Order: sequence, then C-alpha cells, then structure tokens
Amino acid sequence: MTYDLPPALPATATPADYSRIHFDPSEVPAKRIVGLLACQRDPLLRSLTSRVVVTRPACDAPLAQKGRDRKKKGSSEASSAATSAAPSGAATPTGKLWEVELEDTVIFPEGGGQPWDTGVLRVHDANGGEHEFAVEACIRRGLDAVHRVRVPDGSAIDFAQLAGAAATAEVHWDRRLDHMVTHTAQHLLSAVLDAKGLPTLSWGMGQYPSIDAPYVELPRGLTWAEAQAAEEECNAHIRAGLKVWIDVTMQGVAETDEERKAEVEREFRAIPKDYTGGVIRHCNITGVDRNACCGTQCPDLTHISFLHVLPPSSPHAATTPSSTTPTRLYFVAGTRAIGHLQHASRELSRAGQAVNVGRNDLFERISKIEANRFEQAEAGKAMKGELARMVGDAAAAQTQPVVHVHRSEKATHDFDFLGSVAASFVDARPSDTIVLTSAVSPPALLLVQSKDNDRAKAAFDALKAALAGDDKARVKGGGARGRYMAKVEGKWGKAEAEAVARVLEELKA
Ligand SMILES: [Zn+2]
Repeated sequence: MTYDLPPALPATATPADYSRIHFDPSEVPAKRIVGLLACQRDPLLRSLTSRVVVTRPACDAPLAQKGRDRKKKGSSEASSAATSAAPSGAATPTGKLWEVELEDTVIFPEGGGQPWDTGVLRVHDANGGEHEFAVEACIRRGLDAVHRVRVPDGSAIDFAQLAGAAATAEVHWDRRLDHMVTHTAQHLLSAVLDAKGLPTLSWGMGQYPSIDAPYVELPRGLTWAEAQAAEEECNAHIRAGLKVWIDVTMQGVAETDEERKAEVEREFRAIPKDYTGGVIRHCNITGVDRNACCGTQCPDLTHISFLHVLPPSSPHAATTPSSTTPTRLYFVAGTRAIGHLQHASRELSRAGQAVNVGRNDLFERISKIEANRFEQAEAGKAMKGELARMVGDAAAAQTQPVVHVHRSEKATHDFDFLGSVAASFVDARPSDTIVLTSAVSPPALLLVQSKDNDRAKAAFDALKAALAGDDKARVKGGGARGRYMAKVEGKWGKAEAEAVARVLEELKA
C-alpha cells in the first residue's frame, strides 16, 4: 500500500501515483528532507509557497557542480560536434549571498548526476510589497536542501530575520527541463544498454545552457550498428510514452519482502555517506527499468521527445568495437538534442562550403581530398628524400674535410631533411664532417655529423659558442655518437653566416 504525504501539493499534469510512498509518513517532519522535496514528488510543479525555516550568511566562494561533465582533452567526438551555449561575459552578481532553508521547495539540490536548479525566491515585506531574489544554486547538506540566494545591498528584506516568513520558490523551468529530460533519457538509455550486457559505469552532463552531449560510460566502445540499435529502441519506448514513477521507501526500516530487502541493502551502499536517516527512491520506467535515483524524473517518456546516440569513434562499417576498455557513449535528448543537431547541421554546411561542395557530397569529397593528400604527402616525402641524397652527394664532392651546406628553403627547414643530407654525406665520406645550417624563420637549425664522434663534437661545440656569443641561452641542443643538433633563436643574418665561416676556417687549420 502507498501513503499520502500532507499537505497536498498544487495539482499539475503529473499523475497522482507518480510518487509512491511505501511507509507511514505520519512521523515525517514538516520540513521536507531531500528525497521527499516537492520537486522530487512532482517534477512538473514549477512554483510552491512555503515557509522559511532558517537563514544564514553564505560563504561566497563558487561551488563546484558535481554533475558537470569534465571532459578529457580531445577524448570526445562531442567536443568537436558542439560548443557550449553558455553566455560569456555575464556580469558578476552584486550583493550578499544567503543560505535559505524552506519547509518545502520545487528547487532541486544537485544529486545523482543531475545539476542543481536555479530560480527565484519571492517574499513580502511588512507592507505587502513583493520582493524577488535570485536563487543561484541549491545544494544538499545531509538531509537538507540549502538554497543560495543573492540579496542586493540595501534590500528592504532583512534575511537575518526571515525565519517563519512565507516564501515562494519558483524554478528556472527551461534549465530544470533540460536537466530532467536528460536524466530520464540517461536512465532509459542505460536500461536499454544494460539489457544488452552493457552496464553503465558512470554518466555525466554539462549544466544548462549547454548543447554539449551528455554521456554514459560503458565497459567497452560500441560499433555504429550497436549505437544505432540502442537509439532506435530508446525512441520506440519514447513514442510509446512509457510511464515513469518513483517508489519511496524509508532508509533503515526493516524490509519484510526478501527481494526488496536485498535491493535496499544493495542501494544502501551507493547512498552518499552524509545522507543518513533519509529515504530510498527507486525510479521505474514501465517494463524497462528500476533504479535507485534521487533526481527529478519526467512522469512519462513523451517529455524526452527524441533521443540521439552520437555515432561512436569506431570506424563506420566496423563489426567489432575499436575500444575494449571503459568508453564514453554520447547522447542528446529533448531540447538539448534540437540545439545540438541544429549546430551539427550548420557545421555540416560550413564544412561543405569550406571544400566547395554540397553537404550531401561532403563525405565523398573529403574522402577523395584525404586520399589525394596522402598520395601527395608520400610523393613529397619521396622527392625530399631524393633531394636530400643529391644535396648530400654534392657536398661529398667537395674536397675539404669539413663541408658546410646552408639552406634557406621552407620546405626543407627540418632536422629530418638535414639528417638525410648528412647521412648521404657520411656514407660517402666516413672520416669527414658535414655542417648543415638552415635559416628561414627563427629558430635556425644547426646539424653537425661525422662518423668520427670527436671531430663532430669539436665542430659542434665551436659553432655553438660562436653562434651564442654572449647569450648562452640562444643556442639549445646537443647530441651523441657523431650526430649533434641545435636550434638557434633570433635573427639569422650576416653576423651568423660570418661566425660559421670563421669556425670552419679554424677547423681547417
Ligand atoms: Zn538517476
């Protein structure tokens, strides 16, 4: 049997059996604990008038949002497909921050991966005038939901004296809906994947306003076909409008039903250490899922509208996943999916314009460009190799024991090329030394090579000292076994060319 928890909340479209309380709540205190908050009993309730229980000045340090998607650099296809829609340069709020606890609230404190709600708090002064304050965040402290409320300097309301006053909390609905729809979509996707032997290890979402894709972390990567099948299954459930409800049981109350007892014990281990004496909530999706959860969940799946699973990083046609270690699978749902896909569509058009082709032909065109690029890179490499051999052979044809080659071509301004020239030279002249310099834009490059390590090192040290002059930090490098390389910072001009020539003259002597 289930119980009512008076006083009844204002009616919304949420069915009366959404929140099912399986214990006698007559002893439950009037100040609602987290787990029994109005936002958790009716997720569609946007505003609620309640009473202020306690206020205290808050520490103004910014809070870390626990549900935030901390993206590893370059690890996600989502990061390239979307950018945050967060406003930049928002003005820093002025005024003091207060902590406010209410008897009950529609503003959800973060939990279960779902970021906190924001909203407004309305209170009346002694003359009946209404004053509105921003609720910048809401956090759970033990069993309490703590609102962080910004009070402008000179406010007519004295927050130190507010306990006992009536106050109306209203949730920032677009933000809540985005978080809530994403959270319910995550439960659905996790349930569908779990049935395929892919348990969710963790999940994460960026807070509103963001069009970044949230993720579920799975034991392995998925193929495109697997991701698409999961997406189709989720959307079939969404179209069917499956009902969602919450079972609420008391923490620590002896369970008689054996199956429920095992479940409660299992969930107990997952509950935060500082949440004791509270309730255990199980979110159910008809015929699909039952999972412990403290978030606000849509009363049925139609609120999600649509779920898209981003194609994984495995190659398109691969039949086995490219990753066998824990991997994030990205998805988008609800209005965030619309924003995300609009952005992706525009980027597709931009990419098409960048290579001068309609977006329908983009894949083919880019594949062709990539194949050409590879071919040209290979041809370039071969030509560079051949050129290096020719330059090396020309150097070897000179008669001095120390030969200098200077280059000022951008295409060959790299140690790979200089090394190939040197290799070609020392093959032909094993007992002699080659000095290579290349100057295009700073830094200039210096390479000295010989099969005789002592000679190479002596030449390199002398050149290094001459080029550095008074500025020892200007030339950085070293080497071993007859091969020495350095980068020379700053301008390469007449003085540098003369310094090299001077050293070469000395080496000849
Ligand atoms: Zn959850």
